[in-house]
Amino acid sequence: MNTQVFSASDPKTPELAAAIVRRGGLVAIPTETVYGLGADGLNPEAVAKIFQAKGRPNDNPLILHVTGPEQLPLFCHSIPESAYRLAERFWPGPLTMVLPARDNVPRCTTAGLSTVAMRCPKTEVTRKIIALAEVPIAAPSANLSGKPSTTTAEHVLHDHNGNIDAIVDGGPCAVGVESTIVDLTEPRPRLLRPGGITPEQLLEVLGDLVIDKAVTAQIDKDAVVKAPGMKYRHYAPQEPVVIVSGSREKAAAYIRRHFVPGDRVLCFEEELSLYQDCNPLAYGREDDVQTLSAGLFAALRELDDPSIHQVYARCPVGGGVAYAVQNRLKKAAAFHIIDAEAEA
Ligand code: AMP
Ligand code: MG
Repeated sequence: MNTQVFSASDPKTPELAAAIVRRGGLVAIPTETVYGLGADGLNPEAVAKIFQAKGRPNDNPLILHVTGPEQLPLFCHSIPESAYRLAERFWPGPLTMVLPARDNVPRCTTAGLSTVAMRCPKTEVTRKIIALAEVPIAAPSANLSGKPSTTTAEHVLHDHNGNIDAIVDGGPCAVGVESTIVDLTEPRPRLLRPGGITPEQLLEVLGDLVIDKAVTAQIDKDAVVKAPGMKYRHYAPQEPVVIVSGSREKAAAYIRRHFVPGDRVLCFEEELSLYQDCNPLAYGREDDVQTLSAGLFAALRELDDPSIHQVYARCPVGGGVAYAVQNRLKKAAAFHIIDAEAEA
């Protein structure tokens, strides 16, 4: 199949992309978080194509993308009032809510769960496509399963050229890490995945938030968990990644001591001069965490190269958006962290 590339700014694009969705095809869509691989979320055959194109395990559910909170009752039931408060504050935006699913949502979309993940993306062209398709669009990140997420149309083309109907090119994604996921199906709201909407922001609206253990630790692949996607090795280049924590100087001393040719260093722009002989790649500025979240996946994709032996990575500290960057980088590193302060 010839994969067409549509420009997000072309006025014909929303209808062309919506037509593909309506006839059960696959179209990659830009969002503020990452590019999604979209299909009609109510059509089991279309949804099956997503799993097939990505090589995604079928126990890993998809997110349904809708035009706004008014669509929640179409696909969910027993919706708590807190869902509407969150939507009012953060939609359209990088927040996904897990709610009880109505029977019209196919169980292949929810990977057999009785709950469904709902999100309203900020990117206008994508909301237009959803509206014109007149169905919710199921879309996971458009990367091949297990690979770092796609934050540009070029990433999507790299992974899926010839295997999907079209890509809507909306330029690089601003947030760069996948949406925050909060589960609202239990008495206490639970953070399943950190993202562009921070735990602090959720707490302001909800007054309470449990952090799921999938956020902070490696989950056994056979475990039954609330966020099935979180148990797989994720976001990772093919070679081992190790995070080196501690002060700039101590970390640089540790890495320079252990570096051998074939290794790479993933660091902050402010640190580049410390790693001149260590083939460094900067993914953003430590003093501007937003640039780190926007740049992380492009950097991890660049480092996904069989000739690389090992990657030493620097990770931002603190809450807010840094919390989401830590989560993705720790998963890429399979939670392998060396404290350079203790090693000195
Ligand atoms: P992706 O879009 O590839 O980043 O994956 C979607 C994420 O949403 C995965 O981590 C899923 O586990 C999560 N997800 C989707 N639906 C549900 C659900 N009903 N309950 C919990 N997590 C979900
Ligand atoms: Mg993904």
